[in-house]
Parts: sequence; structure tokens; C-alpha cells
Amino acid sequence: MSYCVYKLENDKNELYFGMTKSPNKRWSDHMKNARDNGTCSSKKLWYDGDTVVAMQELEWFDTKEEAHEREKELIQSNNCVNKLKYDFDYKTYKKEYLEKNKEVNAQYHKEYREKNKEVIAEKRKEYDEKNKVKISEKKKIYHEKNKEKKNADSKEYYEKNKVKINEKKKEKIECNTCGSIVRRDCMANHKKSKKCLQTSAAAI
Ligand SMILES: [Zn+2]
Repeated sequence: MSYCVYKLENDKNELYFGMTKSPNKRWSDHMKNARDNGTCSSKKLWYDGDTVVAMQELEWFDTKEEAHEREKELIQSNNCVNKLKYDFDYKTYKKEYLEKNKEVNAQYHKEYREKNKEVIAEKRKEYDEKNKVKISEKKKIYHEKNKEKKNADSKEYYEKNKVKINEKKKEKIECNTCGSIVRRDCMANHKKSKKCLQTSAAAI
């Protein structure tokens, strides 16, 4: 029996669970940690000089693994100050935090942008100037990458709207030069026709 799972509890019924080979040494380490504002979360149990904290040995285990298993169980099933050790998920925490503070943050950023408009614009300009080559290189790569997609998209669009597009092409519209009624897809050629050119020449 060489590993002890223990509990720290203060007079506000707040808890800390841990494991150690040597409870006496661990206890003095906890006190030192509280006094020196160390990194161990057990310091939260000591609010001030008046807070009473007690250590209680709970169970002893032969192996570190068993003790660790029990410690983890206790931490997860109790509301204790070192809960974060196993349950803290930063990603979820951050997401929840951002969700909860969405409006406050949006307001803050808006105000910040408003207040620092000139500085931000200046910085942006500086950045663009400094990264001119990089930016245009990036744009080029982006364009290359999207060319194929765009072509595919427009082909797909055409396939989907073939009937409508062809209807539109066949539509008859009025020439804004000579007033002739011409098919939309013939307009470019019509503008080069003798009839239309004569009218436009006469108008000048
Ligand atoms: Zn015309």
C-alpha cells in the first residue's frame, strides 16, 4: 500500500482531491503552494489567513495506476477546485465564452474600430504596401485555382439554364441605333450591317 488518495477540504466545504506517496510531505507542499501563490489549484481553498483547510487520507493503493484511477473518479464525480484537471476542454470553453459574450464582444470591436479608424487604415495601407508582391502573387494563384472551377460552374449554369438562355438569345429587341427589330444574338452583327451603319452615320 504505497499510494494514498486524499482529500483537502476547507471550512466552506470546498474540495480538492489528490494522490501521493507521502501525505505529510504533500500537505506541506500544498501549504507552501498556497503561501507562494503556486500553480496548484489547491491554493483556491486558502482564501485568507482565516480559512481552515484539512487533509484527509481516503484510501491507499498498491499501484500508482489504481490510485490515479480513484483520484480521477473522485475529481470527476465531485465539485472540486481541481475539476478542470480532467474536465476542462479549452475548445468548448472558448466556444461557450464567445457565444455568451457575442454581443459584448461585437460592441467592443465596433467601438474599437470606430475609435481607431485612422490607425487601422494606416496600418492596413502599410501592410498592403509591404506585402504588395506577396498579395499579387496570392491573387494570381487564387485566380489560377479558381479558373477551372469558374469554367466548370459556368458550364453547369449553362446546362441548367440552357432553355432559358437560348430563349433569351432568340428574343427580338430593338436596335438602339436604327430602331430595327433584331434577334438578341444577331445584334452585334446587325450593328455592322449597312443599314444600321448608314443610320448611325446619318445621325452624326
Ligand atoms: Zn441598327
